[in-house]
Amino acid sequence: MSVSVRAEQITKSFNSHSALRGVSLDIAAGELLALLGPSGSGKTTLLRIIAGLDFADSGKVLFDDTDTSAVTIQERNIGFVFQHYALFRHMRVFDNIAFGLRARPRHRRPDAVTIRKTVMTLLDLVQLSGLENRFPAQLSGGQRQRVALARALAIEPRVLLLDEPFGALDAKVRKELRRWLRELHDRTGHTTIFVTHDQEEALELADRVAILNDGQIEQIGSGEDLHVRPASAFVHRFVGDSIELPVAIVEGQAWFEGKSVYPLHSTGPETSTSLFLHPHDLHVSDEGPHTLPATVLGMRRTGSGRHTDLQIGGSALRVNVALPVDFWVEEGEVVHLRIWHAAAFTDNVVPLPRNRGTSASLRPAVMANRKRSGA
Ligand code: ADP
Ligand code: MG
Repeated sequence: MSVSVRAEQITKSFNSHSALRGVSLDIAAGELLALLGPSGSGKTTLLRIIAGLDFADSGKVLFDDTDTSAVTIQERNIGFVFQHYALFRHMRVFDNIAFGLRARPRHRRPDAVTIRKTVMTLLDLVQLSGLENRFPAQLSGGQRQRVALARALAIEPRVLLLDEPFGALDAKVRKELRRWLRELHDRTGHTTIFVTHDQEEALELADRVAILNDGQIEQIGSGEDLHVRPASAFVHRFVGDSIELPVAIVEGQAWFEGKSVYPLHSTGPETSTSLFLHPHDLHVSDEGPHTLPATVLGMRRTGSGRHTDLQIGGSALRVNVALPVDFWVEEGEVVHLRIWHAAAFTDNVVPLPRNRGTSASLRPAVMANRKRSGA
């Protein structure tokens, strides 16, 4: 029943505002893809267009190889769950779940016995057996969203679209539902797009995450891809804790406060940019040619290590790094850090001021994310 979904170069404007600027997305049949992006980045707009609730200005949506523009909403057969899903308040859980089946035209409507069987099976699937006679007001928020999901599943959707379905719930319930939804998906295998602005939720739930920023896809990949091979400064900033060290790139080295701190492949003239790294990319080391001095500002012991606030060099940059518990430092002490892994992004590169005269012929510096060989 599941189909693959392909969005091709979707654009959509509201008045003069571009909400989607050429979005392309490929979702395999049976895949659970998370669509992650900040508020206002276009997530809901994209889902509504895929569902057929709204129309793109240009571009196409395909289910398998069928262009959906010729297909009615009913024929698209989409299961949709929203953040604030209004269950019918005057209807019991049973009737809420049965609603989509009973609303079918007579010739496609299952008989009452079949509907009962379907609803009971779904109640079991969403772990709400025994609650079929409750009204929505007699359920917790998490239970209500599970009813909403059962209702979306009742019509045997070809595609399931979930728009921040757990967004209104508290953190603990969200975590439980996340795990539960993943298991449910593994059993049912509906092609699913799960929208969230919570990176942890996206990475825990989905095999692949698409990052949407200001109406454009920045990157599609696994958690590993997004962490280790971020495609842009935006992705680095959005996924995990991001540290930006302002550096100058000269002769294949990144220089910070007069010291070379990291090798970077680059061609072209001297530029200034930021080195992007995660806190765990900074390791304490003996003072050496490629180390950064950092002053200890404070410490907090946690289970796994000692979280240490550090000020990098003479800059205003402060970072929080987990140091090994057996590594003793005092407040005010200077430690030396080595960068194990960092990235620079061409969209962040500007020529150094003294090179301004050559900027007309400036080729963008080509820099690869690069692991230190260990020196
Ligand atoms: P998200 O779901 O990622 O928060 P939306 O898709 O809801 O983002 O919105 C994307 C952009 O389009 C926002 O700037 C929003 O204000 C705008 N927008 C969405 N729907 C409408 C609408 N019906 N009318 C006007 N502007 C809209
Ligand atoms: Mg939204």
